[in-house]
Amino acid sequence: MRRKADELDKMRRAGKVVAEMHEATRAAIRPGITTRELDLVAREVLERRGAKSNFLGYHGFPAVICTSPNAMVVHGIPGDYVLDEGDLISIDCGAIIEGYHGDAAYTAGVGTISAEAKRLIEVTEASLWAGIDQLREGNRLHEVGRAVQKVAEAAGYSVVKDYVGHAIGTAMHEEPQVPNYWPGSPGPTLKTGMVFAVEPMVNVGTEETYVLEDGWGVVTQDGKLSAHFEHTICVTDDGPEVFTVA
Ligand code: MG
Ligand code: MG
Repeated sequence: MRRKADELDKMRRAGKVVAEMHEATRAAIRPGITTRELDLVAREVLERRGAKSNFLGYHGFPAVICTSPNAMVVHGIPGDYVLDEGDLISIDCGAIIEGYHGDAAYTAGVGTISAEAKRLIEVTEASLWAGIDQLREGNRLHEVGRAVQKVAEAAGYSVVKDYVGHAIGTAMHEEPQVPNYWPGSPGPTLKTGMVFAVEPMVNVGTEETYVLEDGWGVVTQDGKLSAHFEHTICVTDDGPEVFTVA
């Protein structure tokens, strides 16, 4: 749906809080820190900004961020996992300001990482920006996924299809979905004031995933690395405006 100017202002503010959660957690990433400690860092940002969490309590999720190391794709529960030199860690954050949501994710290396891991991060982030560039008035929504898929597959990687992006506003997950691949139809026509969370999940190996016994963590079927980048973006008369940047 198309949001009004005052709604977009609130979403812009929520986006800034999410960007600050990214900055704070990124600065805290180091070998030896636990994912639970990263969750605490993110909680402090929410408190300082007077924002609510859209992750905490979502279908019973127990934290304000998701922390997904290495072969974990998304939805990891922060806990006792200790980050190790060479790990990849994907961190997904969200915030609510006056009822309006922001949602964004990034993947970072812990200390020195392999050339493959570094390339996966670069390709996944590039695929996100290729998708964002499609969020233009008059364009069709599924061009986003087509652009994401092109970048990821050109690098020899696969795009996860079990999980997708989404419209966002007064709820974190609104319709329509935003696939990270071409689903066979062009999808809705984009209009100024529409807001989406675009979030490619890119795997080094197979696109196939499964869910851990905790009911949350999503892991690659072959145990190979996965990365995840996400922003919340508005379609404007001047092109895409990314809300979840500092
Ligand atoms: Mg997210
Ligand atoms: Mg999302």
